[in-house]
Amino acid sequence: MSTAYRGRFAPSPTGDLHLGSAAAALVAWCAAREAGGTFVVRIEDLDRPRLVAGAEERQLADLRWLGLDWDEGPDKGGASGPYRQSERAAAYAAALADLRTRGLVYPCDCSRREIAALVSAPHPGEDGPRYPGTCRASEPTRTWRRQPAWRFRVESGVTVVEDKLLGRFEQDVEARVGDFVVIRADAVPAYQLAVVVDDLAMRISEVVRGADLLDSTPRQILLARALDGTVPRHAHLPLVLAADGTRLAKREGGATIAELRAAGLSAPQLVGQLAAMLGLVTVEEGRAGLLPFELLGAGRLDRLAGQREVRWRPGQGIAD
Ligand code: GLU
Repeated sequence: MSTAYRGRFAPSPTGDLHLGSAAAALVAWCAAREAGGTFVVRIEDLDRPRLVAGAEERQLADLRWLGLDWDEGPDKGGASGPYRQSERAAAYAAALADLRTRGLVYPCDCSRREIAALVSAPHPGEDGPRYPGTCRASEPTRTWRRQPAWRFRVESGVTVVEDKLLGRFEQDVEARVGDFVVIRADAVPAYQLAVVVDDLAMRISEVVRGADLLDSTPRQILLARALDGTVPRHAHLPLVLAADGTRLAKREGGATIAELRAAGLSAPQLVGQLAAMLGLVTVEEGRAGLLPFELLGAGRLDRLAGQREVRWRPGQGIAD
């Protein structure tokens, strides 16, 4: 088995790159470059209604403007492409066929409303209520009321994430989310499946991304194991919040790279402020401006703090 470092940045082209994504891209790039490894950019464009025309090109242009480069990606190609999820349907179909053959997935035609009605205390999370397993034991010959989705069978027990930054995180996926959807009723692969199939196919050794995805990681570990793959290491970065504690991604303005650039911030200033916010450099060093490669070496990545959130203070870049 190859132990070469392969990192990735996997944006969804649903708008302009914001500070949180830029921080994730910067650290993922630094980790790959410091390890002398390969850095992959993959475009996660399966959720069609949320796609924004031109966003992919603008996000890639923002990454280049910041001073980041990549070895494999949609514009460059590479041995484990294609690098847009919309072009990888065959890989997801093969994964579904494999899971079906081994009885690890089953069809389910429950609607969201039916599931919510069955569960007395709906889970308030983004994924909706825990699925109570209604279709788990259905006969395969049953008639379906509508096109079914495919759910992954989850056994009870705790799944452990040994996160490089946040430490040990445990989740009983069965108790929290239940059997989860891997192929949606409209035949589109769910994020959880697509990300795992792609990380395996692209031989990603370390996933560096925002802490908002930590909750999905146990599901992804279960899928990676089921697909007989190796589980990558994980490093979840703090979520970047505005100075007043609101989510940057949900704010009206001033949080995208394009807006900051238009306001006159230079790339070294922005990289310096991001690095200071994450604790990689001091506020003074950050203020002086930095190019991404200047963050390499000197054990700077070891200074990354394991925190769930940091706050962006324009002009200062001070981590709370
Ligand atoms: N495409 C996801 C996003 O933009 C990130 C997926 C991942 O890093 O695993 O939020």
